[in-house]
Amino acid sequence: MKVYLENLTKKFPSRDKKSKEVIAVNDFTFEIPDGKLIGLLGPSGCGKSTALNLICGLQKPTSGKIYFGDDDVTDLAPEKRGVGLVFQNYALYPHLTVRQNIIFPLENLKGKDKLSKAQMNEKALEIAKLVQIDQLMDRKPSELSGGQQQRVAIARALVKMPRVLLLDEPLSNLDARLRLQTREEIKRIQQKTGITTVFVTHDQEEAMSISDMIVVMKDGVLQQIGKPQDVYDDPINLFVAKFLGTPPINVFDGEVRGGKLYVGNDCIMDADTYDRKVYVGIRPEGFVLDANGPLHCKLGRVEVMGRDISVVSENEHAHAVVRSIISAENKLDLASDEVRFSVKPFKVDVFDKETEMRIHLGGANG
Ligand code: ADP
Ligand code: MG
Repeated sequence: MKVYLENLTKKFPSRDKKSKEVIAVNDFTFEIPDGKLIGLLGPSGCGKSTALNLICGLQKPTSGKIYFGDDDVTDLAPEKRGVGLVFQNYALYPHLTVRQNIIFPLENLKGKDKLSKAQMNEKALEIAKLVQIDQLMDRKPSELSGGQQQRVAIARALVKMPRVLLLDEPLSNLDARLRLQTREEIKRIQQKTGITTVFVTHDQEEAMSISDMIVVMKDGVLQQIGKPQDVYDDPINLFVAKFLGTPPINVFDGEVRGGKLYVGNDCIMDADTYDRKVYVGIRPEGFVLDANGPLHCKLGRVEVMGRDISVVSENEHAHAVVRSIISAENKLDLASDEVRFSVKPFKVDVFDKETEMRIHLGGANG
């Protein structure tokens, strides 16, 4: 089921004279394609949950429309929209067994949709198998691990075969390893069922790893939509560039002068644009150790990461310590005070200092 948001806006009025009105979702217009997994991504407080609540109907928009396929569902009650919801805090019924929790949404079906007990049990088992908790059907939630509880919550959201599955930070309560494992599971389940899914998270790595498309937002405003790799490679502005990637992109004060890009007095590459002050973003993997390289940094320490090494250095024009990721095969003179780099031009993004929008340099650099 394709979902289309049209000029969708949600304002929260100010609570008192001191506070301002909050525009939690500001004029969203975009399409969530049928059968895809979309990652809704941004820092805490940027409006992700509000956007999700508008899609499922728990909150009413201030203005704008929501379509499921060709149906305008803007004024439809949540239970009539055919959405499945999963939250961070599983929200299972503690006194019910796993089976009873999964069956619960089926018990209110009326008229021609009404199911017999046997049919409900059959559906519950089918979904439990899909999320791999079918051996746990008679346990209570308190007898399950966090990961298992979240699977039950996912099973409960899926049992009515929703048109759209909405997940709000579903992995936040899990420890690091379970988080990794469960996100793979969610991807597998989504691909198997083909249900259009919106996955909300503040964790860029999580969103990048499982989403067909990511939607990056900031302060209620949509910044960029695209395939994870495309957004990473072609960020529209400094915010998006800094939000995606670990370690994060390294930002320097720089300047375009006479067709060249400078960090301080170091001319690091060609820049086919007019002269101005800029921010220079260099991805950690964009540095090349080079004894004659143009970029001079003060060597800090080296962190071994197995296949790669992370060289931490300093540059007076950098906004923070400079983190570069270099293949471990490279030999670095640790006794030296200085480390010199050349850069991979396609790993360098340049931003206007006023607007913080990306400047396209043309030629080989896109
Ligand atoms: P996120 O899920 O990205 O952390 P939210 O959607 O929860 O963000 O919140 C977005 C903004 O809207 C925040 O500034 C938050 O304080 C505000 N907000 C959310 N819900 C309400 C509400 N019911 N009343 C007033 N302000 C709200
Ligand atoms: Mg939230």
